[in-house]
Amino acid sequence: MRALVFESFGGPLEVREVPDPRPAPAGVVVRVEASGICRSDWHAWSGHDPDVVLPHVPGHELAGTVAAAGPEVRRWAVGDRVTVPFVCACGRCAPCREGNGQVCLNQTQPGFTHWGSLAESVALDAADVNLVALPEGLPATTAASLGCRFATAFRALTGVGRVRPGEWVAVHGCGGVGLSAVQVAVAAGARVVAVDVAPGALDHARRMGAEHVVDGAAPDVPAAVAALTGGGAHLSLDALGSVGTCTNSIRSLRPRGRHVQVGLLPPATGRPEIPMELVIARELAVLGSHGMAAGDYPAMLSLISAGRLRPDLLVTRELGLDDAGAALAAVGRAPGIAVVRPCGT
Ligand SMILES: [Zn+2]
Ligand SMILES: [Zn+2]
Repeated sequence: MRALVFESFGGPLEVREVPDPRPAPAGVVVRVEASGICRSDWHAWSGHDPDVVLPHVPGHELAGTVAAAGPEVRRWAVGDRVTVPFVCACGRCAPCREGNGQVCLNQTQPGFTHWGSLAESVALDAADVNLVALPEGLPATTAASLGCRFATAFRALTGVGRVRPGEWVAVHGCGGVGLSAVQVAVAAGARVVAVDVAPGALDHARRMGAEHVVDGAAPDVPAAVAALTGGGAHLSLDALGSVGTCTNSIRSLRPRGRHVQVGLLPPATGRPEIPMELVIARELAVLGSHGMAAGDYPAMLSLISAGRLRPDLLVTRELGLDDAGAALAAVGRAPGIAVVRPCGT
């Protein structure tokens, strides 16, 4: 099969022929119809993830069709259209038994712990635990972001942040996950302040329903958010993952506010200074959100099927596999979500 390969961190990203994957006994091989390019792919390529072994094929946000299944797979058959959470859970450990496969102790992640979906096919383990059937009529390009960014934003706001109608939500960083968060927050009845350094990203955030936008390069972002929200956000997300956006997000909160860290913060990119004096004085909650388990997908999928959530509006570019490397290396420079169709259209 054809796949996007890198042999050194930060080195060339080349499309080449590699051996076809085979399914594990409880796993499947999915023919990839669409694979998003996400900031975490950029982290993997940049050498920020200790799980990545070279040479490597990135890609973890996918939709496609089951092409082969191992002998232990019961729920899925060749031809089923599926997506999968980027955290593939084992289904047996304590977090999994509690329904929290997104923090599984034995998790695998396509594009990190093994070769990923910027390829014509990808192997996925524990298929009965992890695969999610695509609703009829949902295009693969729309469904791809459900594997990571859209689902991550959905759970960060609903399951972790427990957003309520009428609350102010600040979204720091308006790439794919941030724009998804703006849309989910608005659909939940919240009022949104979007923050980014790129005017194009802020325009996109307004189109997703953000009521106010703030230039992320402003000298005092938390003060700007506080002025627009009458004292600070109830809920704030660092959707980028940087020292600056993390700190600004926590400082943007009103008393009793909740910060949710969504963007990855590998130590290689620096460690944020958490203002613990504010966490105490304002009784802030500092929370983390790591994807979403397959069992939590139906609630999100029903809102998508009903047209209340529109992940399709976030897809700004469709690329062939030959253009995926350049797009991955340039993550963050163009607004919206780029989706690769590795097998052509
Ligand atoms: Zn991702
Ligand atoms: Zn587990």
